[in-house]
Amino acid sequence: MSTPAHLTKIVATIGPASRIPEVFKRMVRAGMNVARLNFSHGSYEDHAQTIALVRAVSEELDTPITILQDLQGPKIRVGDLPPQGIELVEGEMLTLVPVDEFSHQPNTVSIDYPLIAEEATPGTQILLADGVFELKVAEIIGHAVQCEIIKGGILTSHKGANFPSLDLRLPSMTDKDRQDLEFGLAQGVDWVSLSFVRKAEDVRSLKEFIAQQGRPDTPIIAKLEKPQAIANLEEILKVVNGIMVARGDLGVEMPPEKVPTIQKRVIRRCNQLGIPVITATQMLESMIQNPRPTRAEASDVANAIMDGTDAIMLSGESAVGAYPVQAVEIMSRIASEVEKDAEFVNFPAPQTDETHAISEALNAINDVLGLRCIVAFTATGYSAILASKERSKIPVIALTPDVQVYHRLNLVWGIKPLLLDQEVTTFEEVAQQAETLLLERNLADRGDRILIIGGIPMGVSRGTNFLKIHRIGNGVS
Ligand code: PEP
Repeated sequence: MSTPAHLTKIVATIGPASRIPEVFKRMVRAGMNVARLNFSHGSYEDHAQTIALVRAVSEELDTPITILQDLQGPKIRVGDLPPQGIELVEGEMLTLVPVDEFSHQPNTVSIDYPLIAEEATPGTQILLADGVFELKVAEIIGHAVQCEIIKGGILTSHKGANFPSLDLRLPSMTDKDRQDLEFGLAQGVDWVSLSFVRKAEDVRSLKEFIAQQGRPDTPIIAKLEKPQAIANLEEILKVVNGIMVARGDLGVEMPPEKVPTIQKRVIRRCNQLGIPVITATQMLESMIQNPRPTRAEASDVANAIMDGTDAIMLSGESAVGAYPVQAVEIMSRIASEVEKDAEFVNFPAPQTDETHAISEALNAINDVLGLRCIVAFTATGYSAILASKERSKIPVIALTPDVQVYHRLNLVWGIKPLLLDQEVTTFEEVAQQAETLLLERNLADRGDRILIIGGIPMGVSRGTNFLKIHRIGNGVS
């Protein structure tokens, strides 16, 4: 299948609106690259159905589709409420009681954080439902907190609760996360993202658990949505494989005016290090109801691309919205348009290994020769990710024998993964396979110059040590 030619990747959250085979297929044809499964919602049956659908469509359309398992993390929520919700009236009181001690009383809601009364003090701000409702703690009563309602409305079941001023004693992963991961890893998800990461240790614990499940190579994305994660960014970047700027919770945990500069700073740093980064949440929010985005939303998508994001993400728009296909189409059109003009900046790499040296040379060679594409022969994906970091505006074709790497790399800016179905052990065989696949898929024509990078001996991790300028059709020796 020929997909739209944008280099920025599109992540779409899959939910009831898009778990429909025909809709899903149209989204992939429109340019969706990554299916995000949000484990804050949906049953295992739903997610298993989505995974089967993704793999079947990937096979049918002969295109990689990445599966991203997004773990809920230690999100605090209010408990069950009547189906119609309860009204929070400004100026009145609401008491939050730990779930274990909760009994139905007027103006009382349960919360799944047992230490709330130990951590909160009079004056602590509590935000519910992504900041739609605001409470201020008035009094601590035993294990419960009584709050004044500052911003009211109708509160419904299981809405999230944020405590922006508190550093809560929460585990990095919950029992639910561990169970969800066991399920996801057994289903062969390609990436895992963890919500509410605060420090590098949170990522390390997740890595250990993943290794215990026998899938140590599974790459991890840290979702940045807490002020502590921003403060500990450099340490977190040392241990993750990817980052998500999760602007939804970040804009509740911190003043929203701080989010745009954080977004730019994080993307710049990830670009510098060659760490894939996703910009997420409310990108085309109005398209949940409307077939066209607002001008401000189109600009937000464009600006994230100009910032250097690897991927842009749809949440409610594709999961529950009325226009999931149109939302992908618009993102794809914006990306293609912006990429024509945007000056993507390539920051100098701080590392001094051979793979970095080779990737640094790509733009200089392309400027002189006008290459059709870069072919990275890669066992682990590493050299393809570093080539992508150069932001060359020509595709990086990742040629890999590993089906997992094939799907994983589809999340990274500018990379078009191709799966090798034959074993290759020499440079000549790599070049021969590259020629055949590029010609078959109209990704190059006879006479085009391409650049092939890879490692000899073949298949050794992190060992890119050759670069060969190659003209298609001129033989492979
Ligand atoms: C966010 O908060 O922006 C986000 C992506 O997380 P979630 O959708 O899981 O709340």
